[in-house]
Amino acid sequence: MTEAHLIRGFLESHGIDALVRGDFLTGGWGELPVDVCAVWITDDSRYEDADQLLRDFLSGSLARIHGGKTWSCPHCNETIEGQFTACWRCGGQGPLPD
Ligand SMILES: [Zn+2]
Repeated sequence: MTEAHLIRGFLESHGIDALVRGDFLTGGWGELPVDVCAVWITDDSRYEDADQLLRDFLSGSLARIHGGKTWSCPHCNETIEGQFTACWRCGGQGPLPD
């Protein structure tokens, strides 16, 4: 649940109240499409904001927190961030995750 709390803190730092599912069981809030956890925002009108923030967050900060690794494409030598499994430039496959 560490990621969930991290994400909740991230959303709250952007002015969006959020809860980690499991802390509260009362429903009715929008569930964000997060694979790693279940974070609920308490105000449905902020759902779009939260969704966009999280997409940016998950593709950036969280990925770096989790891995921080990059790999070099064996085909074109492009440096690829660790969360991607294929080269964005040539489509070549990267090393398998450990
Ligand atoms: Zn490549």
